[in-house]
Amino acid sequence: MTAADAVVVGAGVIGASCAVHLARAGLRVIVVDRAAAPGGGSTARATGGFRAQYGTAINVRLSLLAREQLRSFRDDTGVDPGFQPVGYLWLATSAVNLAELRTANALQRREGLDDAVMVGPAELPALNRFIAPAGIVGGAWCPSDGVMRPMEILRGYLEHGARLGVVVRWGEPAIALERGAADRITAVVTTQGRYPAGLVVNAGGAWASPIARLVDVELPVSPLRRQVAITVPTEVLPATMPMTIWDDGFHLRVRDGRVLLLRPTPGDPADPWSDRVDPAWLDDIAACAPVRVPVLRDAPLDWPRAWAGLYEMSPDHHAVLGWATGCPNLLLVNGSSGHGVMHAPALGLLAAEIAVLGGARTLDVHPLRPSRFAEADPVRGSALL
Ligand SMILES: Cc1cc2nc3c(=O)[nH]c(=O)nc-3n(C[C@H](O)[C@H](O)[C@H](O)COP(=O)(O)OP(=O)(O)OC[C@H]3O[C@@H](n4cnc5c(N)ncnc54)[C@H](O)[C@@H]3O)c2cc1C
Repeated sequence: MTAADAVVVGAGVIGASCAVHLARAGLRVIVVDRAAAPGGGSTARATGGFRAQYGTAINVRLSLLAREQLRSFRDDTGVDPGFQPVGYLWLATSAVNLAELRTANALQRREGLDDAVMVGPAELPALNRFIAPAGIVGGAWCPSDGVMRPMEILRGYLEHGARLGVVVRWGEPAIALERGAADRITAVVTTQGRYPAGLVVNAGGAWASPIARLVDVELPVSPLRRQVAITVPTEVLPATMPMTIWDDGFHLRVRDGRVLLLRPTPGDPADPWSDRVDPAWLDDIAACAPVRVPVLRDAPLDWPRAWAGLYEMSPDHHAVLGWATGCPNLLLVNGSSGHGVMHAPALGLLAAEIAVLGGARTLDVHPLRPSRFAEADPVRGSALL
């Protein structure tokens, strides 16, 4: 039996960030993860996009806070997070979607994202000369958005955490949360042991809801499959090409000499936990890619290397951050809805502030409170971004 001030369930990038920030605040932290080694969840499947171009103030603020932390990440942890500001270019193919990008751009600039600008068709070739211009009526561009390396960020937090005394127990799924007086959790029980804890952090990613249910907390976070197609090694596109996104969600970037291509789908309706790649989806990507980016005719897909993973969707596609209703020492850091790597530095800091200082200090996180769904007051923003 090992006692800790805080037990974090889940050692993905969010759990690891929480652990580091709690340890920096002086807490003894234990992390339990059911996987045998780092990367058992979604963090290892992420493609590594980072953006502050969002349609809501809270997401812009989370990104700006995280960007600041990523810039000092190497000094703080000793590991290079691989953050490269190659920019994010959003493309609109209709006046309605262009207007939505414009509204979001005005909001971003009000929040201090000064380098986010609207661009017309004539400016696009200078930003990305590889895209076929047909049908594009304009876009939005932010040069300080970019890419990063999710598993290096996770490694940085885990190694830094170890130096701060964080203990990670791999291969230990949490199977029960014991409760005591006033509905508080008293211990986390895994297949290997029992860890008494003053507070428990749910950092279970797409699996957060089953973890919350161990103490009868209903957490509206559900899995959503995301598939990634990858080309054979190629030099047809440069590593510096911006992340480029069409308004139907199709997007691409270059990583390690190959092109990654994605287009969202509703997942597998027959099995929401499936992380199988659908061959018909790959057919669709193979057909679409050279139409959107003609040089990709010379860079076929490497079919066996395609992969899929799970987003952790909340009903309003925003993170859920705060104490669980009905369980006063269960801290929820969930529901990032596909933005969890980029927001992990910010969410870990804010979670530690909530745990240690009695409330978040760096940002007003009221919009992310877990009770917002029951209050019918979700975060409202653009469906496009
Ligand atoms: C294809 C794809 C592309 C993505 N691209 C991006 C991107 O470009 N940028 C971005 O910011 N985000 C991206 N994401 C989203 C990102 O991966 C997630 O938001 C992020 O990894 C969530 O981190 P996490 O630590 O909450 O979850 P995870 O990394 O999934 O970690 C959760 C951990 O909990 C553990 N666990 C589960 N149940 C239990 C239990 N009962 N007991 C103990 N441990 C348990 C799991 O083993 C896992 O290690 C992408 C996701 C996918 C699938």
